[in-house]
Amino acid sequence: MNTLLLKNTPDNIKKAAHILQDGGLVGMPTETVYGLAADALNGEAVSKIFAAKCRPMDNPLIVHIADFSDIEKYDLAEEIPKSAKMLSDMFWPGPLTIIMKKSNVIPNEVSAGLDTVAVRLPSHPAARALIKAANTPLAAPSANLSGSPSPTTAEHVMNDLSGKINAVIDGGACDVGVESTVITLVTDVPRILRPGGVTFEQLKDVLGKVDVDNAVFHKISEDKKVSSPGMKYKHYAPKANVILLKCTDNEYIDYINKNADKDVAALCCDEDIPFLNAATFSLGKRGDYISQAHRLFNELRRIDNVGTVKTVYSRMPSVDGVGMAVYNRLVRAAGFEVIDLEKL
Ligand code: AMP
Ligand code: MG
Repeated sequence: MNTLLLKNTPDNIKKAAHILQDGGLVGMPTETVYGLAADALNGEAVSKIFAAKCRPMDNPLIVHIADFSDIEKYDLAEEIPKSAKMLSDMFWPGPLTIIMKKSNVIPNEVSAGLDTVAVRLPSHPAARALIKAANTPLAAPSANLSGSPSPTTAEHVMNDLSGKINAVIDGGACDVGVESTVITLVTDVPRILRPGGVTFEQLKDVLGKVDVDNAVFHKISEDKKVSSPGMKYKHYAPKANVILLKCTDNEYIDYINKNADKDVAALCCDEDIPFLNAATFSLGKRGDYISQAHRLFNELRRIDNVGTVKTVYSRMPSVDGVGMAVYNRLVRAAGFEVIDLEKL
């Protein structure tokens, strides 16, 4: 299949909407990462997403809408919790996905056999225009090959999926850079299943009490049944081996300089660069988690593009604010391999 790389113009949005209505797949820009969209109400179209990405069938998809009223319009949920409206008023459109009890119109391919549906209202104008033009909600996971770093540019999508999908709309680089925060409202206390651009602290301000699922911080075995199926797979990983170092600023610099070699790289902060004797890939300033989230996946892909890097040492981020999302993605990219220099 020839994959069309389309500029973000009104005519191309219409063209892409027709592809979706015909059961095809379109890479769409969102403010978090690029999504691989199909008509969420067409199970056969949705199953093509799993084939193109080589995604495990038990990992459900997020349904993207263009307006809060679409939940009712398309009858997506059995009931809309009051807290969903509160969250929507505060954070939609934006990088928050809300899980509620699903209705019967949600195909099994979308919910992967669960009795819930994950819904998000993205803020990227091209995504919203596409959902409106297609006149249907769009199921869309990240538009990468399963397991590899999520795509934050149209070029990343083409690198992973060219020839396997119908089109990609080029909407420029994504703003947030990591996937949406996922919160479920079907538990007694609302629970974060995946951290993202909307933080634990912000959600607590609106809802009062919020839990964070165990799978956010810890390794879950692949044969376990979990509330957040996406969190149990090795994820976001470049081909090079990523190792996290739990340490101070100086220990990080010393450790890398001691282990520096031509196939070693440092995934570091701007302030570290002058002191390091290895190839450096910076995520931005120390403590600037918004920049770190924005740059993370692009830097992981750049490391692989160099071709010679075998080992990447990254500092373990703290879990405040958007740092929780950076930590969650990095620890998975590392396959949970952490060296604790404080304990050595
Ligand atoms: P992706 O958009 O590629 O990051 O994948 C969607 C994420 O949302 C995965 O981590 C899924 O496990 C999660 N997700 C989607 N729907 C549900 C649901 N109904 N219940 C729990 N997690 C979900
Ligand atoms: Mg993904």
